[in-house]
Amino acid sequence: MEFKKNQEILLTIEDFTKEGEGLGKYQGFPFFVKDTVIGDEILAAVTKLKKNYGYARLVRILQPSEDRITAPCPVARQCGGCKIQQLNYEKQKEFKWNLVAGCLKRIGGFDDIESKMEPILAMEEPWHYRNKAQFPIGYDKEGNLVAGFYAGRTHSIVANTNCLIQAPVNEKILNTILAYMKKNRITAYDEKSGKGLVRHVLTRVGFVTSQIMVCLIVNGKAKKLANLDQLIKKLSSIEGMTSIIINTNTEKTNKILGPTCQTIWGQDYIEDYIGEIRYQIGPMSFYQVNPQQTKVLYSKALEYAELKGDETVWDMYCGIGTISLFLAQKAKQVYGVEIIKEAIDDARKNAKLNALENVEFFVGKAEEVVPAHYQATHIDPDVVVVDPPRKGCDETLLQTILQMQPKRIVYVSCDPATLARDCKILCRKDYEIMKTAVVDQFAHSTHVETTVLMSRMR
Ligand code: SAH
Repeated sequence: MEFKKNQEILLTIEDFTKEGEGLGKYQGFPFFVKDTVIGDEILAAVTKLKKNYGYARLVRILQPSEDRITAPCPVARQCGGCKIQQLNYEKQKEFKWNLVAGCLKRIGGFDDIESKMEPILAMEEPWHYRNKAQFPIGYDKEGNLVAGFYAGRTHSIVANTNCLIQAPVNEKILNTILAYMKKNRITAYDEKSGKGLVRHVLTRVGFVTSQIMVCLIVNGKAKKLANLDQLIKKLSSIEGMTSIIINTNTEKTNKILGPTCQTIWGQDYIEDYIGEIRYQIGPMSFYQVNPQQTKVLYSKALEYAELKGDETVWDMYCGIGTISLFLAQKAKQVYGVEIIKEAIDDARKNAKLNALENVEFFVGKAEEVVPAHYQATHIDPDVVVVDPPRKGCDETLLQTILQMQPKRIVYVSCDPATLARDCKILCRKDYEIMKTAVVDQFAHSTHVETTVLMSRMR
């Protein structure tokens, strides 16, 4: 079929991709259109063509879908963050549950998976749920100093100090910093020239403890910021402020944080809890960004592990040991493995902080550490938990897990496609999927978390 660039076409959106783009067909030829939802009738303009499909831009909604709402955030469309804010939350939940079911069926071959799936564990309050924010500081098109976010796939800053999925206190923090910068003529960093001072503002909030950390990422040392005591005075009077830090990043890089931190007020870290477990969180620490739903997800993993107290458990891809420490409260011995050394340093520190002595952590690739440990010790774990990154588990690791023959495998996943692929391998012979829980940790985005329980049947 022949199309011209910018040609306008009428489409009815009939499906949704896992990236949250709508799919509509023009005389049978599929087009992907951002910012649309199933049921929308739209006018779109062709932007890009491939052999069997194309992309189009939403020009006008002619008849909105019943499930469409006005996105509460006025800049939702420019921002890359909330891709599906225009879909009502009930439908977002349905979309995510169906996405997981679809992957497990299509890729995993689990035909009757719906009967093993619990209703989605969604958020009670799908706003203000993130505990960590990183706002770039710069200038808008008119040259005004602003804080905000990068418009989808670009590095131009759209001003917004009131992000609806972040903690409300961010607005006050950002306005305080911007006012201080204006008053003292402190410049924002310019990526192109590498000149200017303030690059980003990072905030972290302990949702249980209400402790707040503010970290300014600066192209230089703290002493370059004139009258810094004025800023410290204002920020430290915000209720809950616990830690104010300057991070120095003088590199021309997209990486937000530089290598060195200086605490200019308060502690070097804030503290927070997931369930009963206490964590110390510095500006560089990895920590789950939605602690409430993380608790829901990890409680599910713990429930599926069915620990009585005498079990040996592996937590593979353990990060800072969040799941390991959760399990250690109920198991005899827990082993954790993680590739990033700093994460394991934090895991060990957090184990100590919580006086949990029955957990041992290893640094390295799970697919190397676990087989080597198994060969050396022949310890057969009762339960194996995996929580890999999006690309899923390494096949060597899956084979080792099968050799170890645990009673239960609990798979925590942030990508339903690789989850389905790996479950298919694990369930070839001895294991079966017993239960699946879909958890929404990131409302208004298309991310979805899943926990699957597989039990040994033979
Ligand atoms: N459960 C963890 C988070 C897991 S995210 C927590 O709650 O903190 C996935 C983790 O896998 C990341 O920390 C990543 O660094 C780690 N990782 C990636 N590839 C790995 C590999 N080959 N072996 C071990 N860990 C790996």
